[in-house]
Amino acid sequence: MEAQSASATATSVRRLRRELQLIQQSPNSQVAVKPSSSSLLEWHFALHSLPADTPYSSGCYHGRLLFPANYPHAPPTVVMVTPSGRLEVGCRLCLSMTDFHPESWNPAWSVDTILTGLLSFFLSDSESGYGSVQSLDEQRRQLARSSWAHNATDPDFVQLFPELMEPPERRASTAQGSSQERAAHMQARECWICRDVGSEPLIHPCACRGSMSGVHASCVEQWMRHQRQAGGGGSRPRCSICREAYLGQEVRPGLSSFVFHYASDFGGQLICSALLVAMLLGFQDCWRGKEAALPLPASIAFILMFGCVTLHKFAVLAASLPLHRPPPRSPRAQRFHTSDPQKLARNSAEALTTICVLAVWYMRGELPFVAFLPFGIVGVCFVLKVFSSRLSWSSLCVLTRAVLRCLLLPVMLLRHVTLSLLDPRWVLQLVHPLGAGSHALLVLGTLLLMLCSSNVPLILLWAVHSAALALAIAEKVMAARLVWRHTFAWIYVAQLAFFSMYVANTCCHFQRGFCPDRTWVPVATASALWLTCVCTMALVVNWEECVRHYRNWQRQHGVFTLAHRGEAFAEHRRDLPV
Ligand SMILES: [Zn+2]
Ligand SMILES: [Zn+2]
Repeated sequence: MEAQSASATATSVRRLRRELQLIQQSPNSQVAVKPSSSSLLEWHFALHSLPADTPYSSGCYHGRLLFPANYPHAPPTVVMVTPSGRLEVGCRLCLSMTDFHPESWNPAWSVDTILTGLLSFFLSDSESGYGSVQSLDEQRRQLARSSWAHNATDPDFVQLFPELMEPPERRASTAQGSSQERAAHMQARECWICRDVGSEPLIHPCACRGSMSGVHASCVEQWMRHQRQAGGGGSRPRCSICREAYLGQEVRPGLSSFVFHYASDFGGQLICSALLVAMLLGFQDCWRGKEAALPLPASIAFILMFGCVTLHKFAVLAASLPLHRPPPRSPRAQRFHTSDPQKLARNSAEALTTICVLAVWYMRGELPFVAFLPFGIVGVCFVLKVFSSRLSWSSLCVLTRAVLRCLLLPVMLLRHVTLSLLDPRWVLQLVHPLGAGSHALLVLGTLLLMLCSSNVPLILLWAVHSAALALAIAEKVMAARLVWRHTFAWIYVAQLAFFSMYVANTCCHFQRGFCPDRTWVPVATASALWLTCVCTMALVVNWEECVRHYRNWQRQHGVFTLAHRGEAFAEHRRDLPV
C-alpha cells in the first residue's frame, strides 16, 4: 500500500494508519470505513443503520474521502457516491471539515470526527451548503430503497464492504463507544497531530492535558504554517483545542520580501502572457509557406512544441473542470488536476484566448483550415465535456440563461448606465475631484487623444494631470485637510494608466508635435512621470488598506517557532509573560 501512495508523506501515512487502527478497535455502528486497496490516501465509507425516524433508515450510502498528501495539516475532500436526495453525488461537499474551508480545519479532527460530522449534517435538514440538495421525503425513501442496488454496481463498494451488500432485516446494534471512550484508547505518549511517538520529544505547550496534550514542536510549527497560508487562525498562534496562545517567536518577512513577492508574481504573469503571444505569432508564421521567417525543420519543431503546450493546458482543464469536482480516479489524470480557482481561471482564460485568436486569424484567411481544425475540435469537445457531465434539465436551463444573458449584455449595460446617469448621487461620485471616478475618466480621455497625429495634446494633458496629482499628494501627506475617497477603484485607475501608457508607447506613432524627429522620446518621458504620479496617488489615498494588506501578507508568510522545546516547558511557562 505504501509503494502505491508514493505522493503521501510519511506523516500522513503514519497518521492514517493509526486512525485506521483506532477505528478498528472501536467501530461505529452507523459508519463503516475502509481505505481503498490501491491508495492509503483514498478511503471509502458507508453510512447505514440510520435512525428509523429519518427517510434514510432503510438506505446505505457510499462515499469517498480523499486525503491530501499533507494530511493532517490540510482537510480531506468528501465526495458522495450513492444518491440520497440529501447530498449531491460526485462533487466536493462544503463542510467546515472539508477542503472547501481549509481555514477552519483543525488537525485534532480525525476520520472518525469528520464522518460523525458528516452524518449529523446528513441527518439534519436545516443545514445547507454547496453539495446539499432539497428533495421530498418520499423521494428520499425511494432512493434509500434503491441504494443497495446502486452500491452493488460499484466495484469499490463490492470489494470493501461485502457485509453491506444486503439490506438487513434488523441490524443488531453493536455497542458504540462514545468519543471519550475511544479517546481513552489513544495512548497518552503519542503526538496528537502526527499520531507518532518518534524520536523528537513530546512537549506540552498549552493547557491541554491527558491523551491530547503531548505534541511535537515541529508538528505545531508545521500546522501553524499551513493554517496561516490557508487564511485561518487569529493574530496569535493558538492551540486548536484549548485555544490557549502558544508562546514562541514569530519571524515575519519584511517589506523587501513583500515587494519581491509581488514583483516576481507580476513578472511571471507578464512573461507567461508574452510567451503565449510569441507562441501564437510563431504558430501563425509557420503556416505562411514561402513567406515564413522560420526554416521548415524549425517550423515543424515549433508546431509540435505549440501542440504539446496547448494539449497540456487542455488536459489540466479537462481534469479539473467543472470547478469543485473531485480529483479524477485515474492516477495519470490526477497529475493534471488542480482545485485552485485562480490557476483554473488563468488556464481557462489562456485556452479561450488561444482559440479565439486562432479563430479570428482563420476567418481573416491568415491561417489555413487544417491549422485551426484541431483547436476548434478540442474546444468543442471541451465545452461538451463540461456540460455533459452535468447534463440535466436544470443545467440546460442554466446554459440557456447564460447564453441569453451574454446576448443581452449590451442592452443590460446600456440600461444600467442610463439608470445610473439619472441618479445625481452617482454622477457626483463619478465627477468628484477627490474620488477615483474623475481620474478614471481622465485616463480614458488620454486614450482618445492618442488618435491625434500630434503628441502635443496628449503630453499637455499628462503634464496638467501630473501637476495636479503632485499637488494633491503634497496636500494629502502634509496638510490632509481634504477628505479623499479611498476605494478599491483606485487600483483600476492605476491599471488603466498603465494600459494607457503601454498603448501610447507601443501602438502609437505620432508624426508631429514636440521633438518632431523622435516624437516617442517626450511621449515615453511624460507617460512614465504621469504613471508614477497616478500610482503614488492611488497608494497615498489607500494607504491604510495597503498597510492592512501588507500586515496580512506578513502574517500568512511568517514562520513561528515555539519558545521552548522539551518536557520542562510546562514548568517554565508560569514565569513567562503572556
Ligand atoms: Zn508529531
Ligand atoms: Zn491545547
